[in-house]
Amino acid sequence: MLDITPSRGLSEEQRLMRQSCRDFVDEVVTPFIRSNWQREWDMNPQARLPPEILERAEEIGVRTLGVPEEFGGVELDPKSEVRTFALISEEIARGDSGLADKLVQNWKVSVLLRNLAPRHLQEKWFARLVGEPQFLLAHCLTEPRGASDRWLPYNVPEAAMQTRAVKKNGEWVINGRKQFISNGYDASLYVVYANTNPKAGMLQGTSSFLVPRDTPGLTVARCNETMGCRFMNNGELVFEDMRLPEDHLLTENDALGKAGVYFRPGKIIQAAKNLGVGVHAFEAAAEYVQNYVQGGRVLIKHQAVALRLAEMATRIEAVRALLERAAQAVDDNAPDAETLCNMVKLFASEEILKVAQHCLELHGGNGVMLDFGVEKIFRDAAIFLHMDATVDISKLKIVKSMFPATAGTYAGPE
Ligand SMILES: Cc1cc2nc3c(=O)[nH]c(=O)nc-3n(C[C@H](O)[C@H](O)[C@H](O)COP(=O)(O)OP(=O)(O)OC[C@H]3O[C@@H](n4cnc5c(N)ncnc54)[C@H](O)[C@@H]3O)c2cc1C
Repeated sequence: MLDITPSRGLSEEQRLMRQSCRDFVDEVVTPFIRSNWQREWDMNPQARLPPEILERAEEIGVRTLGVPEEFGGVELDPKSEVRTFALISEEIARGDSGLADKLVQNWKVSVLLRNLAPRHLQEKWFARLVGEPQFLLAHCLTEPRGASDRWLPYNVPEAAMQTRAVKKNGEWVINGRKQFISNGYDASLYVVYANTNPKAGMLQGTSSFLVPRDTPGLTVARCNETMGCRFMNNGELVFEDMRLPEDHLLTENDALGKAGVYFRPGKIIQAAKNLGVGVHAFEAAAEYVQNYVQGGRVLIKHQAVALRLAEMATRIEAVRALLERAAQAVDDNAPDAETLCNMVKLFASEEILKVAQHCLELHGGNGVMLDFGVEKIFRDAAIFLHMDATVDISKLKIVKSMFPATAGTYAGPE
């Protein structure tokens, strides 16, 4: 019989981590979500997810994955770190995709800091991250004017970021705005990208900075009300003559070139969360169709219903197979890692949305009732189309990495 979450090929460390995440989800997350389904709609973002949930996540060590052991983190085997991230992301998203978002931002940004931050900033901020169970990190690239230009990226000054950083009297002065930022509303520490050379192309003129929440001139302007992943609290930030100490620079001018350490595992983790949402959809549908009776027999004995289950399981298996291959490529830093991580992020977003739609339809009217809990799966699945690049931009990235000499060059005059 098919195991929809197989253990085949997992190391002992991975099996144990997955099991503790599964227990956390089954004992803490799912019971909370089911009995508090109204809370994701609370218009006070801070009242949505109670602090105890992050405290319980802390007990199994999943908030600080990515922090080096010397700073108190949980260090994973570097040869399979991205695959392990994927496994854990999937498990937590099976319980709630927004909670998974909250946690994975911490790992992704920690990996970036451990690679790019000067040691004194690592010492200071990893200690805070490890010591405070509610401490969250965020990564701020997107601005009100088109994020897609940055994802591609179009390496020309006219596509550059509008957030500007200028060095004055030993400080960075930053002006601009970032939108759609995961954890943006709640985070204590931000990585912010800004233009430091308006005459250069984006790849030569973008720098990154480490910005504590209490930096003068930084305002957390709003929490975006999203259709899904609502426990993550996506936010918008405004910088008005924000003054940052000179040493809070992470990478000068070449920040996008160096950010592969964040983007590649990031795409794998997106696909893995997406897969977790698909597994949830499959489990919910499998349970329902084997118990709910129509026409004198349980739904699954109606052949048209059975076909849908076969299709859902096949799509999930296909996403998992590509995910394993892409995650391995990123762990190995293989030449095809860039292509594969974009492929799996794209493929998962389209396939799992179809899985979620089957789940919704198989539940009939119950599928769209808020208190039944199934429509949330569909809403959460839809969000993945837009995170870490849109569907079309992901396709462009795939083709650019496959044909760098032609599709990979900016579409100016030949
Ligand atoms: C829930 C959520 C969480 C997010 N979290 C973060 C985060 O933590 N940090 C962060 O920095 N950003 C984050 N984002 C932003 C996300 O990366 C962008 O929304 C996404 O990349 C799309 O950018 P955009 O919204 O500016 O769309 P646009 O770039 O304005 O695109 C609009 C449409 O035009 C199409 N398009 C644009 N350019 C081209 C082109 N050259 N060729 C063909 N089609 C094109 C796009 O495919 C899309 O259909 C998040 C977004 C969401 C929804």
